[in-house]
Amino acid sequence: MKIGFWPARVFFEPEALNYARGRKLYQLLEKRGISLGMTASHNRVRVNLGNSEREAFEEAKRTLVIGVRRGLKFQSCKPSAHYQLPLATGCPGLCRYCYLQTTLGRKPYLRAYINVEEILERAADYIRQREPEETVFEGAAVSDPLFIEPFTDGVSEAIKFFGEEKRGRFRLATKFTAVEPFLQLPHRGRTHFRFSINAPDIIRRWEHKTPSLQRRLDAALKIIEAGYPFGFLLAPLFLEGDWRKRYLALLEQLADILPGKMTSFTFELITHRFTAKARRQIEALYPGSGLDMDPGRRQFRYGQFGYGKYLYPPSLRREAEDFFRREIKRRFPGSTMEYFI
Ligand code: SF4
Repeated sequence: MKIGFWPARVFFEPEALNYARGRKLYQLLEKRGISLGMTASHNRVRVNLGNSEREAFEEAKRTLVIGVRRGLKFQSCKPSAHYQLPLATGCPGLCRYCYLQTTLGRKPYLRAYINVEEILERAADYIRQREPEETVFEGAAVSDPLFIEPFTDGVSEAIKFFGEEKRGRFRLATKFTAVEPFLQLPHRGRTHFRFSINAPDIIRRWEHKTPSLQRRLDAALKIIEAGYPFGFLLAPLFLEGDWRKRYLALLEQLADILPGKMTSFTFELITHRFTAKARRQIEALYPGSGLDMDPGRRQFRYGQFGYGKYLYPPSLRREAEDFFRREIKRRFPGSTMEYFI
């Protein structure tokens, strides 16, 4: 199997070994000779990860903690779904602007939860509570979850689970490309697979340790071929410099590669935003990175989790929304724009 990400070290929380899936994984990793350790919890990983905060941050992203998801109360997830599906936390990517900087702090260990069956049973409870309405779950709210697949099979299990659930749907967004495990699964059209893409210059400059645009598009074509409901997340949109030209070129490239038979898919567009906490962290870890985070040029607004975000000014967001709606409709008349924020 093609593996997209392999950690430098793996820690297990003791409870993870109470699960057959956890014990099997431990033995497998032991055989493969990966550096293994135990930790009481992801908050207490004891290992020297480097000489500077930046080294520690980047090494933490190569450190996987296999744990048990204890609190099974799911968070809400607007605007893309009703609830988050907590299969994992964190991401091995090093996007400078990453929204996880606000929530994961300076030691953003990757966490994959071994109690996949319990998490999915809980999802079933949420579905039953809302019947006969459909309930939608987002698998990528606090993580780019493809990295967990070789360890917990969490994404595959979720896709199969929702394939059987008449009143539940699963959504998943990724920048990563190890999609082979999902191509033959009985998804029954109930998992909406979205690829997060951006213009090549943005990817090169800000989306470190993630696949190139071309590799993401190649993976996207495999997912389309496998019959999944499909979409693109254009995020974050940087409305700076000649942004119209940059994003027109990207839309043209999409129009060139999408197979003619594909008429219906979705777009979700998210303009760049940041929190004060993320700004402090990014400036401490990557001083002088050049990422535009000048609060004086942004509009401050409170979000659903109680902290504020700095957005582009309303007039610029409106102008960009008009631009993207027009240009997307022109090239992809069968597509749906789920939201522009
Ligand atoms: S791929 Fe997504 S979750 Fe991962 S670092 Fe980049 S922005 Fe963050």
